[in-house]
Amino acid sequence: MLFRQLFDAETGTYTYLLADEETREAVVIDPVREQVAREVELLAELGCRLLFALETHVHADHVTGGGVLRERLGCQLVVGARTGVLTADRQVETGDLIEFGRHTLEVRETPGHTDGCVTYVCREEGMAFTGDALLIRGCGRTDFQQGDPRKLYASVHEQILSLPPTTRLYPGHDYRGRTVTTVAEEQRFNLRLGKGRSLEDFVRLMQQLKLAYPQRIDEAVPANMASGVTTPEPASALTPEAADWAELFRTEHGVPVVTGAWLTSHASGVHVVDVREAVEFAGPLGHIAGADLVPLATLVARAEAWRRDEPIVTVCTYGVRSGKAATLLRDRGFSRVASLYDGLLGWRAAGHPTVEVRGDRQDASDWQGMDI
Ligand code: FE
Repeated sequence: MLFRQLFDAETGTYTYLLADEETREAVVIDPVREQVAREVELLAELGCRLLFALETHVHADHVTGGGVLRERLGCQLVVGARTGVLTADRQVETGDLIEFGRHTLEVRETPGHTDGCVTYVCREEGMAFTGDALLIRGCGRTDFQQGDPRKLYASVHEQILSLPPTTRLYPGHDYRGRTVTTVAEEQRFNLRLGKGRSLEDFVRLMQQLKLAYPQRIDEAVPANMASGVTTPEPASALTPEAADWAELFRTEHGVPVVTGAWLTSHASGVHVVDVREAVEFAGPLGHIAGADLVPLATLVARAEAWRRDEPIVTVCTYGVRSGKAATLLRDRGFSRVASLYDGLLGWRAAGHPTVEVRGDRQDASDWQGMDI
């Protein structure tokens, strides 16, 4: 079997790619939305066809890339039946099988971190993907999202640590650089669930943990309930507006916008104005190749030098500042100006490329060849 363990450093999340070496049919477990372009590129390089994007649970720390992968590659989304995620194509329960080529993943429900948690077991390879039910030397927290230490204790002991001792366990996260463990290792060394720790011990321990409120939970959980596709289809949600230079829409707030899909094919004829701050422009989200950095506070002064009929698209992270920028420019007589709908987050979620600044050099090469 072809196997790749991928990592999202920002959230410490592991994504797994598994494929049949002969048929090239593949599955991806727990994709991260910001990393979809990487996954699409890797699948293309390996000549694999993605059949399923699988979730181990509804994540609270990152937004899934499952919905975007389905849009781009036509795969099916698979979630645990008790997640309540209705946007998935399959809601799986204990005993269900996910097949790709000659390989099979067996579903085992492992609630406790969340109600809908599942573990995917590949028996012929002796591997299991435990999500956040069992982490290396630890386990997922049980203090939100229907968390229940009693359920987690039962899940881990009955469904995971009951697998053959040599089974390799791949977690949903690790924050210390560890990548894999085994059933035997966790039985001996898991600080919370190993060494014969009793149920009562475990419950007490979990109830005493004073963990910080997860930073992205308010954004991530609702987004993940919608498989990571949080924006409405622009063409149906926005009002089209006649224009001689762009396929233009207006938001309900009256902001003129263009979609990322339009901008990708017209960028060369447009002055792309990124109105974020310099630190954001050079930050992890990257920026659109060829974009002009003009922080919003400096926009009006800088625009004095621009032609009033020049096609301009303003860009920021979410589309809020760029909407303000577009309105400012229109009010000053710029006739062909629009904001990028949904900002860079929407742009990247749709798999469009950005340039990332690493050290002092710009490098767009990582993104080449991602469009398959
Ligand atoms: Fe989690």
